[in-house]
Amino acid sequence: MSSSASNASLLSRSLSAVWHPCTQMKHHEQLPLIPIKRGEGAWLYDMDGKRYLDGISSWWVNLFGHANPRIGAALKNQLDTLEHVLLAGFTHEPVVELSERLAALTGHRLGHAFYASDGASATEIALKMSVHYWRNTGRPGKNRFVSLAGSYHGETVGALAVTDVAIFRDAYAPLVRGGTCVPTPDARLAEAGETAADVARRAAAALEAHLAAHADETAALIVEPLVQGASGMVMYDPEYLRLARGLCDRYQVHLVADEIAVGCGRSGSFFACEQAGIWPDFLLLSKGISGGYLPLSIVLTTDTVFEAFYDDDTARGFLHSHSYTGNPLACRAALATLDIFAQDDVIATNRAKAQRIGEAFRNALGGHPAVRHLRQQGMILAFDVADALAGFSRRFFAEALQRELLLRPIGNTVYTMPPYILGDDEIGFLASRCAAALEASLA
Ligand SMILES: *Cc1c(COP(=O)(O)O)cnc(C)c1O
Repeated sequence: MSSSASNASLLSRSLSAVWHPCTQMKHHEQLPLIPIKRGEGAWLYDMDGKRYLDGISSWWVNLFGHANPRIGAALKNQLDTLEHVLLAGFTHEPVVELSERLAALTGHRLGHAFYASDGASATEIALKMSVHYWRNTGRPGKNRFVSLAGSYHGETVGALAVTDVAIFRDAYAPLVRGGTCVPTPDARLAEAGETAADVARRAAAALEAHLAAHADETAALIVEPLVQGASGMVMYDPEYLRLARGLCDRYQVHLVADEIAVGCGRSGSFFACEQAGIWPDFLLLSKGISGGYLPLSIVLTTDTVFEAFYDDDTARGFLHSHSYTGNPLACRAALATLDIFAQDDVIATNRAKAQRIGEAFRNALGGHPAVRHLRQQGMILAFDVADALAGFSRRFFAEALQRELLLRPIGNTVYTMPPYILGDDEIGFLASRCAAALEASLA
């Protein structure tokens, strides 16, 4: 078979045997799947050798490029030593070292690490732990959750209770015990003369009104610090997190910081919460923590929470588990990722890089009549497209692919969340091809 015939066969086999995520499969009648053969740095290469700049880090997970030699070497070493062992009754060096290093990164405020394999499970764990904490401390009535309008914390049935994205939730509404949505501090909501911090104060006042009336039944507030990712890279002022922390303390409600997308340096600091000078009661990591190599998620929490479960009584313990909890390969990938942060001074390097990305996009798109709210938080840049036609997002995606660029807009919001290893040439490429794809999809 010729290579293109074998590609065509792979695509049709994929469409009949693989049910792809986040996809109306019928759309693939028009939009071909892309068979990726290999990756290198910020680039993906398909079976025909065509390349694509991975402008979204393969769904926000990749930090230091595809086929990164340092992470690869650490994993190969781990593969020959221990691929997996259960974490109940057993332990191993990678999980201990990773837990200690993450605790140290929080200044030991969040010194207890609980493991799972994906982000939604981390959300579920934090929600369960919070409710179980209140039960163990004699307040079983505190079992409801508050989240922000437009929040996204995963798509399993429990996580949907705190996810406010209609397209992910509506079909399953009968399964979900809904929580309360309070107003988002979205900086775009600023009225004339208002700053982003003013919007944050307004949103915090609404949160306070809710907590004042419902603290007795509320276990936790869950937020995506600084950027609400999946609802369209909604950015907000850190003042909201400071005020929310104060209100959670005052009303005895846990604060859960879902840093699955914004953690690991994405927002400009290792943890986004650092920019508000606060620590949550639970901090969730996944996506970038393994460098984009293996499924891994982590819930970090405090001594106070841990101690409420520490008892002779089994049922007061946190009995949640997953088969691959604390997988040594995934932990090793995370340790190699943390090594790169330390060795390459990534947070400082990214600061300069983020500035260049911002300049490149302002130059390429700043004056464009359709571009609204060009915004940036660390290594996330986004803008909204005014008056886009229905189907804009898929059209833009296709136009970008034709220009060797992988970007997947969310509705009318175009964003990039690239790997941290982009060079200056690649930054220029990203901005100029994005601008060209925008022109083509508006035409
Ligand atoms: C991606 C994401 C999740 C869910 O993680 P999965 O691994 O996809 O289940 C949860 N919260 C936020 C903020 C995310 O971006």
